[in-house]
Amino acid sequence: MKIAVMPGDGIGTEVVAQALKVLRIVAPHAETQEAPIGEAGIQAHGVPLPAPTLELARKADAILFGSVGVADEADIPRERRPGTGLLQLREALTLYANFRPAYMFPELIGASTLRPEVVDGLDLVIVRELNGDAYFGQPRGFETNQAGERVGFNTMRYSESEVERVARAAFECARRRSRKVCSVDKANVLEASQLWREVVTRVGPDYPDVELSHLFVDAAAMMLMRRPKQFDVIVTGNLFGDILSDAAAMLTGSIGMLPSASLGYNRKGLYEPVHGSAPDIAGKDIANPLAAILSLAMMLRESFEMEDAARRVEQAVRAVLAAGYRTADIHQEGMRSVGTRDMGDAVVEALRKQAA
Ligand code: NAD
Repeated sequence: MKIAVMPGDGIGTEVVAQALKVLRIVAPHAETQEAPIGEAGIQAHGVPLPAPTLELARKADAILFGSVGVADEADIPRERRPGTGLLQLREALTLYANFRPAYMFPELIGASTLRPEVVDGLDLVIVRELNGDAYFGQPRGFETNQAGERVGFNTMRYSESEVERVARAAFECARRRSRKVCSVDKANVLEASQLWREVVTRVGPDYPDVELSHLFVDAAAMMLMRRPKQFDVIVTGNLFGDILSDAAAMLTGSIGMLPSASLGYNRKGLYEPVHGSAPDIAGKDIANPLAAILSLAMMLRESFEMEDAARRVEQAVRAVLAAGYRTADIHQEGMRSVGTRDMGDAVVEALRKQAA
């Protein structure tokens, strides 16, 4: 088990440290090596994805990632933005499918802003395409129009093969769940989406045991708030997936609870919490480390086929929630307030109790 550890910036370093404590318990033989990325990469080597970091990622079986980003990035040129390091890494390793489960822990039902009956039992996965769309499409840039006004532009672009591979990833995922895929696009307005829908519809019959439906992204956003439990697997493009997955995150109460896995053609994956580097709370020992710890559980399951160890970690997280441990983002009246490190220690303790 060779794991490249990339804590990144801000709370990334704090939450990854907790996930590593958990790793030491459930997979003490795992080899880990750390490398800087994002602002940490810029500080160490002058670029957001330094060559030694990419090299380490290529050699590793899996990557445990924190988050990248600093406050006030508006004036930083794109090639020197911390987030560019992550985009480059996803592209270099062809990690094209991002799995973002949104699961309602029964213990946290009061932390959601939605009514309990709307979110009770919520269990969905958003499969977001990661290598295409307006995030990578060319041409992009700024120009000046005939009126002398500046214009910014991007290209939303998808090829058939890009859509097909992520659609297949979503159908396969649905086969391990409730066998429903909802493909989300904006085919009534955008050509890239029209092609998306055609390809997903063409791939669908290869999975006759999976029910396929389609929604426009505006309707999907509404349905996610209104009746989120109707969804099993949602598959969508990079841009729509970015937005919908954060909305789905909030259904469950806090972005600090949600893990993700980015996978490509083999079992090598990049595992990271859905949240960013949260400069507003960085360095204060108040970030919720559970999303990072649950990302580790996804790694054990997906990259190393260690289903038992993955379940142990998930059960330990359930146990600490049931015991009333809460970081500030999921705090509820009468619960036990803890910081990042103490939450990590509580999960470790719960794992030790399982073994006893
Ligand atoms: P963010 O996810 O960092 O924070 C959004 C809000 O959620 C903040 O109020 C933050 O305090 C809170 N929050 C996030 N994670 C939390 C946790 N674990 N526990 C408790 N509260 C938590 O998003 P943002 O503020 O839009 O972005 C901050 C920086 O992170 C930016 O530089 C952005 O580009 C970057 N970012 C990186 C990634 C990534 O590395 N994959 C993802 C999103 C944003």
